[in-house]
Amino acid sequence: MAKVLVTGASGFLALHIIGQLLSEGYSVIGTVRSQSKIEKLMSQFKTKYPEAVANLQFEIVPDIQLEGVFDKLFIEHKDIDFVLHTASPFSFGLEGSFDDVYLKPAVNGTLNVLKSIKNFASQVKKVVITSSMAAIDNMGDHELIHTEDIWNPLEWEQVNHEQLAYVASKKYAEKSAWDFIKDNAQQINFKLVTITPPFIFGPQFFDEDASSSTLNTSANVINQLLKSSPDDTHLFDQPSLCAVDVRDVANFHVLSIKKENISNQRLFPIASRFTSQGILDIINANFKDLNIAKGDPENEASIPTPKFNNDKSIKAVGGYEFISLERQVVDSVNQILKQTSKL
Ligand code: NAP
Repeated sequence: MAKVLVTGASGFLALHIIGQLLSEGYSVIGTVRSQSKIEKLMSQFKTKYPEAVANLQFEIVPDIQLEGVFDKLFIEHKDIDFVLHTASPFSFGLEGSFDDVYLKPAVNGTLNVLKSIKNFASQVKKVVITSSMAAIDNMGDHELIHTEDIWNPLEWEQVNHEQLAYVASKKYAEKSAWDFIKDNAQQINFKLVTITPPFIFGPQFFDEDASSSTLNTSANVINQLLKSSPDDTHLFDQPSLCAVDVRDVANFHVLSIKKENISNQRLFPIASRFTSQGILDIINANFKDLNIAKGDPENEASIPTPKFNNDKSIKAVGGYEFISLERQVVDSVNQILKQTSKL
């Protein structure tokens, strides 16, 4: 049974990845920042996966940006075959400079994992890093076709608000991983795959987590629209972005380690465009009794949208049908309503 290390195991995406790995018979080590998280997650996994939980353990890695922070883990676990690095700050309103709260954890966290593998884990076969469409997106260019070959031209010096700091942190972190592979080609045995999803929607892995008033940054987009009131009007002036379901992104991580042909490349899982108006339209059409904002449905189709083509990624995974935006929204809303006892 292959053993997989998943960093940032408490995250929205990582929990789905761990669930899929356990279902497929992998043995999993998850890293979290505190003992209290280990206890909560162990108890949740025991309830959801009573048989597979023997194959799951957690280790504390306090802050991924600290030099050498992964060394002990790789020294103690000489049987890790694959590493899925998902941990990276994806919250807004964090205290501190953009350098300290976005760039350093993203870039140094990525390099720390790779350096520890190079120094202490020559048995690791593949490392999969969760990057983001943020690393690809030429924001506002509605003519460019975004593909696996494109990079966001944003420079750190241009960053002047926290959303841009997050976007740049993902680009710089992914670039640092590819540079590391190039600079250390003679001293490493593993292959690198990066995954570049756009906004990730879909249900929380554990139903009970959907009862929280604030969900993780992307899932909270649907949560906020669901909690809008009929007189809210500020929600509809946002640009069109792209979306993918969390279950598909998790699957792309698992496919990356299962398929040997996926090697030293970017995978771009993406289902469709979305707008806040479009999400509202889906909620209003499927949950007619809810008294939430209606917006301006007539206007939705005219909102400019990024173009994309991910044929290379679909070919690499052997063909793929993504979960539709409608299913992503309906499953999330059903879960939130059920957990907040409105159904
Ligand atoms: P999330 O729920 O906020 O999870 C982020 C995880 O990273 C958490 O486990 C968090 O630990 C951990 N983390 C953050 N900073 C850390 C640090 N300095 N040291 C140690 N751990 C740290 O976010 P998510 O949506 O699952 O995102 C997972 C990955 O997908 C991230 O790399 C994100 O950039 C990428 N991504 C997300 C989206 C999206 O729309 N959700 C889209 C594209 C890419 P705590 O629980 O202790 O805070």
